[in-house]
Amino acid sequence: MGSAISLRGVVKRYGDLRAVDGLDLDVPEGSCVGLLGPNGAGKSTTMKLLTAQAIADAGELVVLGCVLPGESKQARAQMGVVPQLDNLDTTLSVRDNLRVFARLYRVAKGEREAAVRGALELATLTDRADERADKLSGGMRRRLLIARALVHRPRLVLMDEPTVGLDPQVRQELWALIARLRSEGTSILMSTHYIDEAERLADSVTIMSHGKAVSVGEPGALIAEHAGREVLEVYGPPDRLRSVEADAQARGHATRRTGTSVAILGVEAARSDATNGTFPEGHRRAANLEDVFVHLTGEEIA
Ligand code: ADP
Repeated sequence: MGSAISLRGVVKRYGDLRAVDGLDLDVPEGSCVGLLGPNGAGKSTTMKLLTAQAIADAGELVVLGCVLPGESKQARAQMGVVPQLDNLDTTLSVRDNLRVFARLYRVAKGEREAAVRGALELATLTDRADERADKLSGGMRRRLLIARALVHRPRLVLMDEPTVGLDPQVRQELWALIARLRSEGTSILMSTHYIDEAERLADSVTIMSHGKAVSVGEPGALIAEHAGREVLEVYGPPDRLRSVEADAQARGHATRRTGTSVAILGVEAARSDATNGTFPEGHRRAANLEDVFVHLTGEEIA
């Protein structure tokens, strides 16, 4: 399988700050990759490099076979970009927003109306096509932003935090849309700080911290590698949590704090110990990608 995106040793500096600091990133063709990382990790800068809104100081960037920044126009023509900020033209109808982009992306004149219809359908906005964009709900606007990025049937779609700030039901609608795109073979790179989103949608995730990829893999494999199968959440006052934490670490377990609790990772191996009272009482649950994220980046989720 070819690569939709291949970055090697990419560096982007802003003055003394390395926003991206030797990043390797791969998006195999036809797969959905989640780019996870705390605020300031360099996700948005990476997205900007891929669209050539920013130019790397070092490293190799190949997107859809085009070498950036030299061939960024050719790459851009085959890419759809869903921005984080809603920049729809609110004076235009839903359909006209799509028509403008169909023209911009040079969809042949005779194919434009069909392309617009297809995008409306994909985003289930057909019955809203003639409404002005400013009459849409937040969720519909976000679907229109995605539809707009798809109107020229791109091979690769970049989504920067596609569901940020949306309520849970709307997020689920978008997940369905993203899953459908993925099932049609479109390559997707999606930045997100919603771990559950990455866990559901991504074939593979790249966890970024301080401009680098600190871990790469299929969500289930990363969980097994870094957090084991089971996590024990222990609740109590701060001084007790400190001693529980120190004790678990002394026995080789990674831990994480979550406000009122300490979570001890990888406790499945110690199940028999626990029943012997070696581990404190607590709530056992399945390990998840959030445990991995916090463990590797040292950051809690916003
Ligand atoms: P993320 O999207 O993961 O939150 P960003 O890529 O936005 O991270 O930012 C990475 C780092 O680069 C941050 O420290 C941020 O302040 C800095 N940064 C991003 N864009 C600029 C810019 N245009 N000028 C200076 N610093 C920037």
